Amino acid sequence: MPNMNPKKVSMPVQDPQVRNHNFDEVALGYTPEQAMEEADRCLQCKHKPCVNGCPVRVQIPEFIAKVKAGDFEEAYQIIKETNALPAVCGRVCPQESQCEQKCVRGIKGEAVAIGRLERFVADYHMAHEKDDIKKAKSNGHKVAVIGAGPAGLTCAGDLAKKGYDVTIFEALHEAGGVLVYGIPEFRLPKAIVKKEIDALKALGVKIETDMVIGKVLEIDELFDQGYESVFVGSGAGLPNFMGLPGENLNGVFSANEFLTRFNLMKAYQEGVDTPIFKAKKAAIIGGGNVAMDAARCAKRIGVEEVYIVYRRSMNELPARAEEVEHAEEEGIIFKTLTNPVKILGDENGYVKGMECVEMELGEPDESGRRRPIVKEGSNFVLDIDCMIMSIGTSPNPLIRQTTKGLDANKWGCLVTDEHGKTTREGVYAGGDAVTGAATVILAMGAGKEAAEAMDAYIQGKDKN
Ligand SMILES: Cc1cc2nc3c(=O)[nH]c(=O)nc-3n(C[C@H](O)[C@H](O)[C@H](O)COP(=O)(O)OP(=O)(O)OC[C@H]3O[C@@H](n4cnc5c(N)ncnc54)[C@H](O)[C@@H]3O)c2cc1C
Repeated sequence: MPNMNPKKVSMPVQDPQVRNHNFDEVALGYTPEQAMEEADRCLQCKHKPCVNGCPVRVQIPEFIAKVKAGDFEEAYQIIKETNALPAVCGRVCPQESQCEQKCVRGIKGEAVAIGRLERFVADYHMAHEKDDIKKAKSNGHKVAVIGAGPAGLTCAGDLAKKGYDVTIFEALHEAGGVLVYGIPEFRLPKAIVKKEIDALKALGVKIETDMVIGKVLEIDELFDQGYESVFVGSGAGLPNFMGLPGENLNGVFSANEFLTRFNLMKAYQEGVDTPIFKAKKAAIIGGGNVAMDAARCAKRIGVEEVYIVYRRSMNELPARAEEVEHAEEEGIIFKTLTNPVKILGDENGYVKGMECVEMELGEPDESGRRRPIVKEGSNFVLDIDCMIMSIGTSPNPLIRQTTKGLDANKWGCLVTDEHGKTTREGVYAGGDAVTGAATVILAMGAGKEAAEAMDAYIQGKDKN
């Protein structure tokens, strides 16, 4: 008889008033006993609805059965068959809208904590086992991957396992994409990302950093150098702005710049080369995960008042419920049904306030969410000295502008078929570069799909 407790075994977390002053991980992970107790909640459904909710098709009931039996390493090996980055996914995947949303236990109570169990298994493996990674036998073919985010890393790993000579070209000085420059240390420790990347290197994947494709080298030159197929996983790192008066003032940041300074450049440490503006009152515009991350980072460097300014209500916030809850616990102030109209500056060109309007919700729009409408005459000034724009990002146009025959849609996202094949022969793409800003696991799923298609393309050429 399984454990019929309707609630998940809770995950220990750092105290909110302690953690909002440090960068250590917020959620502390299950102990082996807690993991086995939670695993016992799984009903082992024959039709495995949870697996259909996972973009990389992790064999969830199978790995959970191993956790229940205390065979954590076997559980890890099952996850690893389809997921190259389990310690990452266990931490940042929106399980509530994927695998856990399909869990039968979720009908009458809480779903099985699949994400927490995945994290436990991956962490247990890292702490107790030594990876014995063997390089696959070379198949004599050479492929290039652009971008070392989850899409590129997954594609590279899968191709290396098939015997390809794989080189990743990454624009930044470190591999990992958003996992290292965007998601903060307190949600995803960088040491974990590094270990997952080291495992890919052990498979034979080469990573060349500081290589901006489209500037240092173009895709045509990669083909000239003997790469037979190219995967573009360059993400969607170009921040959107609202075009408000005052956006050029000192103290206005995109969330991407703010978070990159924090995460990649360690701006929270004293004496680093890339410091961060020390504000007293900061407003983050937007209600997604990126906005929550920026707000929680700002709080941690001592910004006294941190506001999330969002034009709809708490019910429509697009961020994960857990992130919103953590932000609230840490003292972030939510100013919902509020929209900025102008940023006010002082005589030295620094932000000194933000004029806002109050909003109300009308009928649902094409996204299904209720449309925010300005309340006439509701203008007021919010006293701030820093504003962080977090209203979405788009793919950088550099690669498509420098590659003949590579089509993009009106949002600048590369056009592909369902296997990642672009309009340019031999070039495949996936992740945020194709979908626009999405999720880690979707990017990984796309990288996997494209690796299969690239393999078929190259092997097909062999047969001709
Ligand atoms: C702050 C933040 C928090 C997030 N939180 C979550 C979360 O909790 N859960 C979740 O599932 N998703 C989250 N996301 C979204 C998720 O991180 C992305 O969907 C995912 O990283 C996309 O992967 P990718 O490989 O397509 O692109 P990226 O991770 O963006 O990687 C693209 C890589 O390509 C490189 N690159 C770009 N242009 C070039 C070029 N011309 N030449 C060479 N290299 C290039 C970039 O430097 C980067 O390293 C978050 C995103 C952000 C910004």
